Amino acid sequence: MEKQEKLKMAAPLVELDGDEMTRILWAWVKEYLIEPFVELKTEYYDLGLEERERTHDEITVRAAEAIKRHGVGVKCATITPNDERVKEYGLTEMYKSPNGTIRAILDGTVFRAPILAKGITPYIPTWRKPITIARHAYGDIYKNTETRVDKGASAALLVGGETLPIFNFKDTGGVVQGVHNTDESITSFARACFAYALSTKQDLWFGAKDTISKIYDRRFRDIFEDVYRAEYQDAFREAGLEYFYSLIDDVIARVIRSEGGFIWACKNYDGDVMSDMVATAYGSLAMMTSVLVSPHGWTEYEAAHGTVQRHYYKHKKGEPTSTNSVATIFAWSGALKKRAELDALPRLAAFAEAMELATLKTIEDGLMTGDLYAISRLEHKQQVSSETFLLEAAQRLSAIGY
Ligand code: NAP
Ligand code: MG
Repeated sequence: MEKQEKLKMAAPLVELDGDEMTRILWAWVKEYLIEPFVELKTEYYDLGLEERERTHDEITVRAAEAIKRHGVGVKCATITPNDERVKEYGLTEMYKSPNGTIRAILDGTVFRAPILAKGITPYIPTWRKPITIARHAYGDIYKNTETRVDKGASAALLVGGETLPIFNFKDTGGVVQGVHNTDESITSFARACFAYALSTKQDLWFGAKDTISKIYDRRFRDIFEDVYRAEYQDAFREAGLEYFYSLIDDVIARVIRSEGGFIWACKNYDGDVMSDMVATAYGSLAMMTSVLVSPHGWTEYEAAHGTVQRHYYKHKKGEPTSTNSVATIFAWSGALKKRAELDALPRLAAFAEAMELATLKTIEDGLMTGDLYAISRLEHKQQVSSETFLLEAAQRLSAIGY
């Protein structure tokens, strides 16, 4: 087939580069799968730890502000520093999680759905359809104030003029934290979930711990119920869909027994940990899409996994790695599709779709990274390196006609 002219973009994507192995994959995805076919336009922000240190994390805030300006961002995984990272990178501060900072600025809900490929079967055999996690991306422990408390001190919540005792540490020291959420953010979280469930024609499940947290978690339950009754009940009924609330414990038990095919709304922390469980159960942390949808209309696409540190140290020693780039590829394809939708560029949307098809075809042809090789039921499977996988996917993309 004759080589086509490169596809053009009308407006830039906000590109947020990151750390370690995912930074390496990031560059390869662009080099092999996008730039040969698209005249890629991005506004680039380097969220790698060195640049965050150099700018005292100002770069993270600037990147989030750029997403507000341009509407669509795509983010590489980044290190959230801990004590070891402070030493490793000689940091002057233990910077907060970039995702936390960005989500606090954009607000919204993170939707995470497994990427299904033939030959990769879920660990839970009844899960025949995808389970999409809708993670509230604002507040709770991700925007907390916490401190250690010395023996003898006592802690209280000070709200307006009221003082609510928390604990008197008279016999022993300990820890204390304050968390918050807002009615506005919870309401937009609820709306995002109902709207997404309707648009994808799936039931919505939500669970919280309102038996124990009778005010905080109860507020989430009540707001969901109010939003449902006032705005979505009729549309759900018409579409034959169900909104279902239960205690988080009960929801988890039902999720395991289910066949999938619904949206699972999760509070921030529940969504953080449960999306790792769900992704792993569907095959791999790297077989999951993740998109932050802000109530203001901004979106940010990312991979749900981390920077894959262990693989990066191998890579640095010059050893080939077999790191799965699928979530990173789908972050780019998702962002390109969104850009195409906003700018009315159907050919760009079709290309992004083809990127995904070519990626899945590579796996279904039996070429896959180690994480999938370990669980694939394909007979002619072969484990390939990170780079080989991308080159193979690029060949298949060319074969589709790009
Ligand atoms: P991780 O990077 O997700 O990796 C944990 C393990 O999961 C890896 O060692 C690997 O297992 C497997 N894995 C994850 N992604 C994989 C992929 N694409 N291909 C193949 N295997 C994959 O988590 P971590 O090692 O706990 O965290 C590393 C850094 O990432 C931390 O600094 C953390 O702060 C950061 N992090 C960032 C984000 C984000 O920006 N979205 C999210 C989470 C963590 P094997 O070693 O068994 O091969
Ligand atoms: Mg997590």
